[in-house]
Amino acid sequence: MPELPEVETVRRGLQPAMEGARFVRVEARRPDLRRPLPKDFVKRLEGQTVTGLGRRAKYLLADLSSGEVLLMHLGMSGSFRVAKEDGEQTPGEFHHPRSDDRAHDHVIFHMSSGVRIAFNDPRRFGLMLLVPRADLADHPLMREVGPEPLGNAFGAALLAAACRGKKTSLKAALSDQKVVAGLGNIYVCEALHRARLSPKRTASTIATRAGEPNERAEHLVDAIKAVLADAIKAGGSSLRDHRQTDGELGYFQHHFRVYDREGQPCVTPGCKGTVKRIVQGGRSTFFCPVCQK
Ligand SMILES: [Zn+2]
Repeated sequence: MPELPEVETVRRGLQPAMEGARFVRVEARRPDLRRPLPKDFVKRLEGQTVTGLGRRAKYLLADLSSGEVLLMHLGMSGSFRVAKEDGEQTPGEFHHPRSDDRAHDHVIFHMSSGVRIAFNDPRRFGLMLLVPRADLADHPLMREVGPEPLGNAFGAALLAAACRGKKTSLKAALSDQKVVAGLGNIYVCEALHRARLSPKRTASTIATRAGEPNERAEHLVDAIKAVLADAIKAGGSSLRDHRQTDGELGYFQHHFRVYDREGQPCVTPGCKGTVKRIVQGGRSTFFCPVCQK
């Protein structure tokens, strides 16, 4: 499942092609993805201008001149391919291999910017909805989403308050979209390693009894922001490389400290530990039992 940095990289890749451009023609090649496409999907898009392309958690939000928002989610296997005169690019690949099989191009946008944007999704867990802008905050997919980890509001106080009294593991708490938006298995493991906190630690231990943040909460917030910023930066560089080469350069997987590194030496300076894999909530957790406490 793509996580926040990948979705943000996709957004940045699509932004120049979509923002300020009009949907000249839209092809919906099948009636559904994870859910049916909205009623009159093509008709409601064609002729509309994208006034802005934003992101909330793992959702892409294209504001339309009609007052509706085109809400898009990549699901498990979705990707966008942007084709223009100087070739194609697929923004936001990272460690998730993308299909290039044209049979899975389910929705195609022909934009007035002269580009063709294909949404490819072999497993069809992706999503496209049209929601009036005024109703977006109350939409069932949006209303319970927690704070944006890169937003100014997100800090140790907010995270500690969300973890106050929580008896679940820190890994589970950070994976909960109501606590913080957009983090998944990979970046939770990476952030906990940077903060030197064990994924098994009880979530409430980053807060005082009154819900105030302690030093652990401060370190954790810094680590979350840093790991996401680094990943987005790496995604950005892979985007640029894409146009010059075959797109295999600059992916963030080369920079993982613990994720998918079971049995390899810990990279924390001075630590002699070995990366261990355990299963939490049915998902693999990678961590160093020596320096993560
Ligand atoms: Zn270590």
